[in-house]
Amino acid sequence: MTPLPSNLYPSALFEDRKPVPNLMIRLNAPEQEPSAFDPTVCKTEFEKNLVYLPSCFLLFFANNIDRFHIRNITLFGTNPFAYPALESALALFAAKPVHVGMCLFPNQLPDKNPQYLDKMNTLFYRLGPFSGENEISKTFRSLPEEITLLRSLNPSLEIRAILYVSDFCLKNLDRVIHLVENAGFDHLDFFSPNLYINLLNQNEKDLCVQNLVPSKEEIKSLEKDFWNILEQRWFETHLFDLNLCRRQMERVIQFFGAIRGLGEFAPPFCRASRVSFFIEPTGEVRTCPYQKIVGNLRSHSLVQISESEELKLFQANLNLAKSPICPSCPGAYPHLLWKTR
Ligand code: SF4
Repeated sequence: MTPLPSNLYPSALFEDRKPVPNLMIRLNAPEQEPSAFDPTVCKTEFEKNLVYLPSCFLLFFANNIDRFHIRNITLFGTNPFAYPALESALALFAAKPVHVGMCLFPNQLPDKNPQYLDKMNTLFYRLGPFSGENEISKTFRSLPEEITLLRSLNPSLEIRAILYVSDFCLKNLDRVIHLVENAGFDHLDFFSPNLYINLLNQNEKDLCVQNLVPSKEEIKSLEKDFWNILEQRWFETHLFDLNLCRRQMERVIQFFGAIRGLGEFAPPFCRASRVSFFIEPTGEVRTCPYQKIVGNLRSHSLVQISESEELKLFQANLNLAKSPICPSCPGAYPHLLWKTR
């Protein structure tokens, strides 16, 4: 790719209308305060070396959304509500046939009345992985109230729970499902905990495995129980589709089993590398949050990146079964399909 002249930035991010069905945007870096969108006030040495997209990026993107065939936009970040242009960008997205979602943690809603949530379609709450009773109580204490507030602001908002399953969660599955339902969620998805694709060092990883992964013997006995629980619960709750949930739980159990030496972890069925882009706050673009960088919006437009030889080569060479990342990926996005409001 030939870099764009820097004086064209950021208007050169956008060119002709192109298909990019799913776009995931991380709005800030870990531990960042809103002020850190200004690169001159970054705090740590690591952050000082990063160059961030300007805080108007999302707004600018929302203004130019018609240039792409985008169906889903999902916003990430440790504190996405702090993003300066969020409210205005959501208002622009709401006027277009784009499905807008946001990933957040419980108790993360801003203090002020989040009126602009009526411009969103889906909220994904990340729950767990729970290693004990305290974490469960803390998570679910205020969730029913929080979700009631959200529903009063936007009755058509879809509110989904993404449960990162752990040993403790499997042993308390019936109760956890009950708590998720009581909190008022529309849907429940089961994911493996993110043990490998993160910044943990080996000791921290070992500790996570010790705290979150059931033993060999437990896996075998839990497996019998949880199918009964899920099937029974399926008759009583609207929270999950039994087929999808079985696939998700099989993956979780395989993931735990592989860690404990019970066979191989099967390759995931995931479309992310073909139908999505993940944009980091620094402008780096990947096809999913975990794979290698295929371009940077500071030097190339999204269209250039989507048509680049680097991307084509990456897509051609990505083998989900052999990639060192995919088999332990907690994500796997089989559901990434075209979707309209
Ligand atoms: S399985 Fe995970 S790491 Fe692999 S392409 Fe899909 S989302 Fe990315």
